[in-house]
Amino acid sequence: MFVNIAVNIPADKVFSYSVPAHLAPLIAVGKRALVPFGRKRLSGYIVDCPTELPCDGVKDIVDILDRDPLFGEEDLSFYRWISEYYLYPLGKTIHELTPGGINIVSERWIKGRGLPESEYPAWRNLSLPERQIMEIVSGEPGGVALDRLKKALGRASLDRHVKSLSGMGFIEVEERLKRPGVGLKKEKIVTLNDASESSERRTGKQSRLIAYLKEAGSATMVSLRREFKDVSSVVAALERKGVVCVTETDVYRSAQHLIPEGKGNLIVPNGDQEAALGEIIKGTESNGFSPFLLHGVTGSGKTEVYLRAIARTLDTGGGVIYLVPEISLTPQLISRIGDRFAADRVAVIHSDIPQALRYDQWRRICSGEIRLVVGARSALFAPVQNLKLIIVDEEHDNSYKQEDRLCYHARDLALVKARLLSAAAVLGSATPAVQTFFNAARGKYRYLALPQRVENRPLPDIRIVDMKGEHDEYGEAPVLSRYLKEAIGVTLANKKQTLLFLNRRGFNTYLFCRDCGHVFQCPNCDLALTFHAGQAVLKCHCCDFAEATPSVCPACKCARIGRYGIGTERLAEQVRRCFPAARIERMDSDTMSRRGAYEKIMNALQNGSIDILVGTQMVAKGHDYPGITLVGVVGADMGLNIPDFRAAERTFQILTQVSGRGGRGDTPGSVVIQTFNPDHYAIQRAQHHHYEGFYSDELPQRQALFYPPFSRMINLQISCLRKDRGKAGAERLGRLARELLEQKNLKGRIDIVGPAEAPIPKIKGRYRWHMLLKGANPWSLKDLARAIMAKAGTNDLDIRADVDPVSFM
Ligand code: ADP
Ligand code: ZN
Repeated sequence: MFVNIAVNIPADKVFSYSVPAHLAPLIAVGKRALVPFGRKRLSGYIVDCPTELPCDGVKDIVDILDRDPLFGEEDLSFYRWISEYYLYPLGKTIHELTPGGINIVSERWIKGRGLPESEYPAWRNLSLPERQIMEIVSGEPGGVALDRLKKALGRASLDRHVKSLSGMGFIEVEERLKRPGVGLKKEKIVTLNDASESSERRTGKQSRLIAYLKEAGSATMVSLRREFKDVSSVVAALERKGVVCVTETDVYRSAQHLIPEGKGNLIVPNGDQEAALGEIIKGTESNGFSPFLLHGVTGSGKTEVYLRAIARTLDTGGGVIYLVPEISLTPQLISRIGDRFAADRVAVIHSDIPQALRYDQWRRICSGEIRLVVGARSALFAPVQNLKLIIVDEEHDNSYKQEDRLCYHARDLALVKARLLSAAAVLGSATPAVQTFFNAARGKYRYLALPQRVENRPLPDIRIVDMKGEHDEYGEAPVLSRYLKEAIGVTLANKKQTLLFLNRRGFNTYLFCRDCGHVFQCPNCDLALTFHAGQAVLKCHCCDFAEATPSVCPACKCARIGRYGIGTERLAEQVRRCFPAARIERMDSDTMSRRGAYEKIMNALQNGSIDILVGTQMVAKGHDYPGITLVGVVGADMGLNIPDFRAAERTFQILTQVSGRGGRGDTPGSVVIQTFNPDHYAIQRAQHHHYEGFYSDELPQRQALFYPPFSRMINLQISCLRKDRGKAGAERLGRLARELLEQKNLKGRIDIVGPAEAPIPKIKGRYRWHMLLKGANPWSLKDLARAIMAKAGTNDLDIRADVDPVSFM
């Protein structure tokens, strides 16, 4: 018997092994096997079992690591599709998409041979590093991991010395398995034996325990510990006498604390909601692939439609995946879910869930015990059984795109998964991605609309303030216009809440020297450092670099350091100065990094103990707070100036989303947008809540410039630690790409743009270039990219493919 194994290494192939007879009955696709790999042993995934020997001289697998498969054939075909499409090796793809922390890799250990002291003089002939190794090793009779040895000696490699020492017989080298970080959780079960009726004398404690077990039959050690004191010794004594027996079983870690107990639901859906729901249910029950776009204005009750569709699907035995942007996984949403579904029947998956719990949730999902999964993008990969419905809420949101390692887009993959499994997929948004609306308009997705807010609440009234006409006492544009200041004043007087939104992209506080113009830059990245007054530090928003704010300019030594730009911190400070009596809070990635900080602000907003909330993108999404009647957008157009063909789309989306936070209660909301480009169509269309208008302005421009949705793109990102070599390498790849284009007869069908220096030319010490491939056919693009990457490999040049890129920085 043979198996093909995918391992987590950057090679685009699987490896064949033979199976010893005693392991043959355990083999199944989706289980992990421990295999010899070079001089190591590591775990890999069984991806198929060929009947014929694929090549000569294959080795035996060492062991099978899972009792039940981690994934099924259907999941595997999904992984294969992803690996193909995103140009990422299959083994790495599976590793990325299955629970982390469970894989095994062996490591090298060095052990002294326990030579007698008399041999020590022989050390004198050893080199210094060899002697250092021997000194450490002879103090550790159990051996030392090679990695630890390297660290202790501060060396990147010890191979040569280890080889010579073992050749001389001083040490032994062996491969030992590292224990994985996550495993099965075990629990002890105590059961009463039949023979317990004997007349033997018992202590009081023993009798009480026996009586308890007679009632319960058996009990876990954990529960007994809650009932009785010092129960371990009592159990041990009874076990010795054969009265009870103690066994061990695997249990799942509890996840119930993640979802609060529910209150039920009293909402009666309106006509539009009923109509959309009816179509979705027809889709889930058709047993065929049914993609939908649910286009509903903010506050139109989309979530209610999702929850009803989910309930119906679960009732009829189907499975559901419900994706939301990471930031929308709020206590508010979770409690709405808790209102409808039993907590032990829902898995919540996001980046803060500990690995061990994730692993247990994964197995419960795989066994069919849990059929509803709610989570951020990675939840799409949960192996839900009998999957009938995938919901992607706020489908336009960029957090569905993963930007490192495997660069996938969860919204796009939701459609792929639904197609592979013949399920329904619902993409929902108030501001669908241009791409998504385009597909719906061409009939690829069924279009469902919720054109009104619930209970006929009006959409907020939006007022545009042209900042070109605003001047402060120095003649510069102020942070807050007169109009917005007045509006905040009125809102405060009415005891309602204000949301102030700052589009942070490219709109921060920077320091510069007023005398020599020196700008404070990150030493690792080609980016200006951002000033954080609270902690008095300069931070890089790209890497972790931070330094204390200097009091003199490092270039000219003068002390005249100025600031420009504005961040949320400064905005909050200004608002405080204008409205000293108001209760003001700030919400951005700095203030939200502490656990529970987000929940605290949201609760405060709910119970009315905040008057003004100042924040970034974080405040724009998914919340529903009836007390907010005024939304102010400070600097609406900062996002228009970034080098990205989706700049207008993003600006329109963010303005519409943030405006939609207002007026959700009984009082109508109003919105003030401050801008230097009042005539820009993205701002004009947002003002009039006119999505289709925006779409019809945007589409011809995309077509004229051959941008998506009219073309597909792959961005090849090239990086190198050395600037000169990177530049030469990038240029070489550019020439190679054009030669391949010629050879493959793709000229005229694929455009190659670049290679050019990336907009952020250096990140974390690596110099960066990119080359854009643009064409109508995704598979011939992929073909070209694969051919380029196959020839790109040199040691110091890193090249990776970003298929359907979202960010071009
Ligand atoms: P969306 O997701 O479209 O922004 P939500 O589903 O969050 O909208 O609904 C907005 C608010 O309206 C929520 O507080 C929700 O409870 C309420 N709601 C939804 N549907 C109805 C309805 N048919 N009647 C009354 N209230 C509703
Ligand atoms: Zn940096």
